[in-house]
Amino acid sequence: MVVGKGERVETQDLVLPVIDLERCDGCELCVQVCPTGALGMVGGKAALVQPEACNYSTTCEEVCPTDAIALPYQVVFPPDDQGGSS
Ligand code: SF4
Repeated sequence: MVVGKGERVETQDLVLPVIDLERCDGCELCVQVCPTGALGMVGGKAALVQPEACNYSTTCEEVCPTDAIALPYQVVFPPDDQGGSS
């Protein structure tokens, strides 16, 4: 499975980085520094080739010279207060 721009793979405990293929210049730096081998090159662009291996170390985001890879913001709301507060 390859995750590209506009796509997001998410489970309850996992949010994966998104790669903007228009920004990616194919320098391969993120692939070289990824500690788990989750990133690879597909068609000259970075791709999340093993999303299950990603532990989101943020290393890829830190080295990317074009800001093409980033973790999407996730808004988490607290559970509804079912008991009231009076
Ligand atoms: S570091 Fe950025 S520009 Fe370079 S291959 Fe990875 S996503 Fe693309």
